[in-house]
Amino acid sequence: TPVIGVFALQGDVREHLAALRSSGAEPVAVRRPGELAGCDGLVIPGGESTTMSKLAVSFGLMEPLRARVRSGMPVYGTCAGMIMLADKILDPRSGQETVGGIDMIVRRNAFGRQNESFEAALDLAGVPGGPVEGVFIRAPWVESTGAGVEVLASYDGHPVAVRQGSLLATAFHPELTGDHRVHALFTAMVRTAGESGREASGGRISG
Ligand code: GLN
Repeated sequence: TPVIGVFALQGDVREHLAALRSSGAEPVAVRRPGELAGCDGLVIPGGESTTMSKLAVSFGLMEPLRARVRSGMPVYGTCAGMIMLADKILDPRSGQETVGGIDMIVRRNAFGRQNESFEAALDLAGVPGGPVEGVFIRAPWVESTGAGVEVLASYDGHPVAVRQGSLLATAFHPELTGDHRVHALFTAMVRTAGESGREASGGRISG
């Protein structure tokens, strides 16, 4: 059973822990570097990305997070978590950093005041069984992506779900619906990464 952490310094942590449990993962709340070290994958929840960024720095999690992303740990970010995975924010608040890893520029609160929160049915590549109900709450959208980024879903012409290697991000919140297919996709990504990691290290040890 893959151990999947949820970044727990800020955001809708409990909902992600529950969604991961229903997807067959062993969820664990992550507030310090030692807890991150035990994880096979990580979810960064929705919340407020500036606060998350500042807390991650002050709790000494930012650099360990960047190091794990560089070494290939799967990470799934929702909404504020998507912003945390972006290499660049179009309009960062002062002092706002990201973990980075996905070659994209995101626009915070992109849908504007008239559209602060809404729901939309989205066809999501890699998620079988019909559209996913996208819950958007002061959501970002993806302004532009580099060549290595796969767009899994768009809304109104803007990418709202992307994947780059073992990194997955959605502008919306599947953890707030009873539908755990996106968490199941991520749990499968963590399993696959664990298997190839074990093969690689097995090769090193035996050979
Ligand atoms: N608007 C928030 C931010 O910029 C994200 C909102 C959310 O995660 N639901 O961080």
